Amino acid sequence: MIEVRNLSKSFGANKVLNDISFQVKEGEVVAIIGPSGSGKSTLLRSLNLLEEPDEGVIKVGDVTVDTKLLTHQNRYELRQQSAMVFQHFNLFKNKTVLENVTLALTSSKRKTKAEALQIAEDLLEQVGLSDQKKQYPATLSGGQQQRVSIARALAVNPKVIFMDEPTSALDPELVGEVLKTIEQLSKRNITLVIVTHEMKFAKKVADKIVFMNNGVIVESGAPEAVFSQPKEERTRKFLLSTR
Ligand code: ATP
Ligand code: MG
Repeated sequence: MIEVRNLSKSFGANKVLNDISFQVKEGEVVAIIGPSGSGKSTLLRSLNLLEEPDEGVIKVGDVTVDTKLLTHQNRYELRQQSAMVFQHFNLFKNKTVLENVTLALTSSKRKTKAEALQIAEDLLEQVGLSDQKKQYPATLSGGQQQRVSIARALAVNPKVIFMDEPTSALDPELVGEVLKTIEQLSKRNITLVIVTHEMKFAKKVADKIVFMNNGVIVESGAPEAVFSQPKEERTRKFLLSTR
């Protein structure tokens, strides 16, 4: 589903991604963990070219791009394969909940208004927000807003959904409802790549853990292996610091 080969990215003299390669299989849930500044967001943002890597090959779904040979066309095609859920929701403030979900469908997926409505109402029901569909984002709690953005991501029927710390902007009492929504998705054979600091959640929901430090993948593997028997000293230290 995803294949990344030899991805590198520098900001000035700061090499943030250093020759990263990894794969994600269809239906897999991958949690990317690691200390602040290790390059997690830059890696995730590179996969849909919100950041443009200096080097490397990225395959998502049916589309493969060499990041040295980007065009409008292949950039667009790669982006069409995925959807993103951000830490700060990034909803349109002047659109209702329902409009936030239908917009991507009528604009880029060329659905009719009626089709878009049907899909959006169905998804809002799945994330438990049917009653809020006419409201504007500002009138919702953070947890509700994040669930709207998950419904919006699902609406375009992406091959994979990327989530960058989807719960870290939430008040503690709202984290659970969003994690529960993500956990429900994880059981539906949707491919998910999630950057998270929620170790308990990662251990429970992910099929694979990727530990990053200093722009490289230090180790990756099944949650039981990485959490219980980390191979690398750096991983061990990081996990201790999160307890
Ligand atoms: P956190 O857990 O704090 O979110 P992270 O692992 O997501 O951290 P990144 O945001 O990918 O880390 O940042 C990796 C490094 O790249 C950091 O040193 C950061 O300062 C730098 N960096 C990220 N974005 C930019 C940018 N647009 N311009 C310059 N430097 C950047
Ligand atoms: Mg980050």
